[in-house]
Amino acid sequence: MGMNTLQNKAHEVERRLRAAYPDALCSLQYSDPFQLLVATRLSAQCTDARVNLVTPALFAAYPDASRMAEADLGHVEELIRSCGFYHTKARNLIDMAQMLLAVYGGRVPDTLEDLIRLPGVGRKTANLILGDVYGLPAVVADTHLIRIAGLLGLVHTKDPAKVEQQLRALLPPEHSNDFCHRCVLHGRAVCVARRPRCANCVLADICDFRFQ
Ligand code: SF4
Repeated sequence: MGMNTLQNKAHEVERRLRAAYPDALCSLQYSDPFQLLVATRLSAQCTDARVNLVTPALFAAYPDASRMAEADLGHVEELIRSCGFYHTKARNLIDMAQMLLAVYGGRVPDTLEDLIRLPGVGRKTANLILGDVYGLPAVVADTHLIRIAGLLGLVHTKDPAKVEQQLRALLPPEHSNDFCHRCVLHGRAVCVARRPRCANCVLADICDFRFQ
C-alpha cells in the first residue's frame, strides 16, 4: 500500500474513531500540568484507575513542584505504594520536581527535548503533556495504540518511538493527540488485547487483521 493510500486510511480511521468516541478525555485525573506529569509517571506499569485512587492524597500533601521537591521520600513511597515500583517512582517524582524548580522555574516545559530530560519522563509521558497540556500535535505510543495501529496495518513495528514517528506522518496533526486517547478507549471497549470483538468494530471493513 503506497504512502498516500496509507495516509487516507489513517485519516478514515481517525474520523471513525472520532465519531465513535466523541469525548477523547485522558482517563487520568489532574488539575494542572504538574499533576498530569506526576499522574503519568505513576501510570507506568499501572492502571489509570489505580493512579486515580492514589493521587488525591498525594496531591493534597504535595500539590506543586516546590512542595514535592522537599518531600520526604518514605512518605511519598507510602502514598504511592499500590502503584508498584514505588521506590523508583517516588525518587523520580522528587527529582523531577527539583529539576523543574532548578532548571525551568517551576514550570512544566513545552518541548519534547526538555520534557524527556526530566527524571523518569520518557517519550510517552512527554507526548501526553505536549498534547493535553499545550494542545500541540502529539502521538502517545501507548500499548493500546501500538497494538491497534499494528492490527489495522497502519504500522508494521511495535517499537514505540517508530510507531510515534510513523503515525505522526500519517495522522492529521490537529487530531493526533485525541486519536491516541480514542485508541485507548477502543482498546478497552472493542479491540481488546488477544480477543478483539471485530464483529462490533467500526473499523472492521478497513482492518488488515480482520481480513487475515
Ligand atoms: S476489526 Fe478487530 S482487530 Fe481490527 S481494529 Fe476492529 S476489533 Fe481490532
